[in-house]
Amino acid sequence: MNKIRILPENIISKISAGEVVERPASVVKELIENSIDAGAKSISVYVRNFGIAEIKVIDDGEGIPSEDVVLAFQRHATSKIKEESDLQKISSLGFRGEALYSISNVSKTKITTQYKDENTGTEVYITGGKLVSKKPVVTKGTTVEVKDLFFNTPVRKKFLKSPYTETAHIIETFQNYCLAYPEISFCLFVDEKEVFNISPAKTLYDRIAQVFGLDFAKKLKFKTVSKESYKLELFIGLEELLRKTRTKQIIFVNRRPVKDPSIVNTLYKAFNIKEDHPQFFIYINLPPEDVDFNVHPTKKEVRFRKPKLVHELIFKMAEPSSKLSVIAEHPNQWRINRDLSSINQPSFFHTEPLFSKEETFQFLNLGDSIVIIQMDDGIIFLDFHAAHERVNFEKILDKMNKKILRLTFPNVINLTPNDYIVIKENLKIINELGIEAEDFGENCIVVRAIPEIVKYANTAELIESIAETLKEETVKPDFVDIKRKIAATLACHSSLKANKKINYLEIKALLKELEKTSDPYHCPHGRPIKKFISIEEIKKWFLR
Ligand code: ADP
Ligand code: MG
Repeated sequence: MNKIRILPENIISKISAGEVVERPASVVKELIENSIDAGAKSISVYVRNFGIAEIKVIDDGEGIPSEDVVLAFQRHATSKIKEESDLQKISSLGFRGEALYSISNVSKTKITTQYKDENTGTEVYITGGKLVSKKPVVTKGTTVEVKDLFFNTPVRKKFLKSPYTETAHIIETFQNYCLAYPEISFCLFVDEKEVFNISPAKTLYDRIAQVFGLDFAKKLKFKTVSKESYKLELFIGLEELLRKTRTKQIIFVNRRPVKDPSIVNTLYKAFNIKEDHPQFFIYINLPPEDVDFNVHPTKKEVRFRKPKLVHELIFKMAEPSSKLSVIAEHPNQWRINRDLSSINQPSFFHTEPLFSKEETFQFLNLGDSIVIIQMDDGIIFLDFHAAHERVNFEKILDKMNKKILRLTFPNVINLTPNDYIVIKENLKIINELGIEAEDFGENCIVVRAIPEIVKYANTAELIESIAETLKEETVKPDFVDIKRKIAATLACHSSLKANKKINYLEIKALLKELEKTSDPYHCPHGRPIKKFISIEEIKKWFLR
């Protein structure tokens, strides 16, 4: 039995080439995809030491014929496409025959597999791309064990992020396939601990609930629309699921998790989203010939052949009358008001005047967060949201505002497994910044106190954005750097909301506070805060 073949040159030249194995999560992705393509009904993933020590994926799929097993590890060896025209209508997750080859080149890989129609299976061991042994075995499905990842490419190992970030990526990757394939049962063990054990689900909704909890799923709104052979299904979390940072925004195209900023943009437009970010899962299903997955080496990006139709359908989903109620019911509304009412309180701003008593100034609110202030010698454009962030950032960082608010009831926050790992690893720094939190086990942490400055923020949301910030960590964690990042996130949660008008007293106090900071020109995220245009410059515009 022979199913796998090396792709001919004319197809290879059409395949977008590039590194498939960037990090441990890429191995998890490729192995899970292979199991799904093999028709597995059950997939188990075991990870040790953030995937560097071991990644093992066990499936009950159709297996690999014995005469193909060694071949499967060659470059461009695949059973999934045969002709050039197959590239135009890809219905499997894999098709380039790169994964097993690339993975086995940078690790010690063992595969144990038996093809469904054969009586014996095969075990093959390859290290650093070299075949070490091959022997017959009896088994079912396929097990791939990848040990000592990057043992022979120390540079690549050095570029990995912190262990908790890599683990979070692995969990996220795993979750994405759980969300795309509800009919498959999945389990994940990280360092011998069971993180997920999910039985088959009847619907996408049930699967979302299995992965993120029923409480979360219940808050999602569901929309679906179809036209011709296109079908879109959207689960969107607005209202209390709106977040300061982009979390859980997952796009599936023909059940493949992808990144597509244009889809995200269209969703924001269609649902009239301005400030906070919704959480959503959008499942786009269309004929395989209408989408090109061959544009990126890891197939993260896609090209639609009828992008207009896809975007039109997204708008259609937002159309029904429910749209208005969604936005109008925005529960943050009252929180915004409370935020503003507190501005005049001394805890938020010192009220010593920046200008002497007699001195006054004219100002104009412009757009959502900009105010134009008239000065003697010109005008200042001030992004007051950014200004407030800067002021609070320094307060948090320097503990100038040492006031800690004890919560009447400790708040137990149930996190997703990846957020939990990230938060648990950084509890010390989080505590230092005034959030009194402890590990509570079972993906939960308990928060007992928060800095006064974020008293109006939703604690769970705050912790989630800290996790999100930490996951973006680019290098091995540097204590000072992490602390600054968390402080910036906290500042963001304590700041004035955009799209609210600011009044005279508030502007005055804010400018005064801003002058005391180390950088009155940039918010903690590096965005500009204010811009001054002198009368002289303005006069020049008019050739005076
Ligand atoms: P691709 O998935 O692009 O074909 P891979 O290198 O991932 O390339 O795999 C090569 C081939 O090995 C696949 O085409 C498939 O025939 C076979 N294979 C890999 N993993 C499995 C598995 N878990 N079960 C059955 N067959 C597999
Ligand atoms: Mg593959």
